[in-house]
Amino acid sequence: MVRSDPYTPSGYDVECYECSFREQTDSRPGRCPVCGGPVHNVAVPRE
Ligand SMILES: [Zn+2]
Repeated sequence: MVRSDPYTPSGYDVECYECSFREQTDSRPGRCPVCGGPVHNVAVPRE
């Protein structure tokens, strides 16, 4: 039986610095779709 990993390594979990909007995306984080501010990746890769 295969156990599923709750962490999805193929995706990004990003949060906006300006409005704290959070989004999950499978492409590189760029700009916030809400306010256009800078976003940062909040998903911490685990080994
Ligand atoms: Zn924003």
